Amino acid sequence: MYTYVGAYLKCKYSFKEESREVFGCSKCEKLRIGKDDKFCSKCGIEFTQIKVNKTKIKKQVQYVICEKIKDKLYYPDYVVDNGFDYYVPNLLTKARLVCSGDSYNPTSHEINQETILNCIIALTTEFSSSIDVLENEYGKENVSLVFGALSYS
Ligand SMILES: [Zn+2]
Repeated sequence: MYTYVGAYLKCKYSFKEESREVFGCSKCEKLRIGKDDKFCSKCGIEFTQIKVNKTKIKKQVQYVICEKIKDKLYYPDYVVDNGFDYYVPNLLTKARLVCSGDSYNPTSHEINQETILNCIIALTTEFSSSIDVLENEYGKENVSLVFGALSYS
């Protein structure tokens, strides 16, 4: 497990349906990514409306998001399952106070109001285009910037 301490993004996951109709391949269930994609890159079949389950949709949404934000933010695979998706910075940034595994050198970080504010400002400014993508995908009201400690692997 890693423990990240700093500012990160918490996105309320709102796909409540068990399954839904999406464009994809009826043979291998590969989902269409671009609106202009006509054929499955795996087996060549023309994309049609298919029914897929919630987990598959979630994975697809995350995949599309990570492509759009050019992996500037990292989506941990294994994280607390409480109805939210979490994104942490994937670059060296002032938004991150400490992440276990960063360094073998002992450090000490005292956290006060200023520390928290500086981390949040860094996340807002350095990742503004990525935040736009998340707000677009999850809905603006579902994306929040938080300061805290997140454990993941
Ligand atoms: Zn296919």
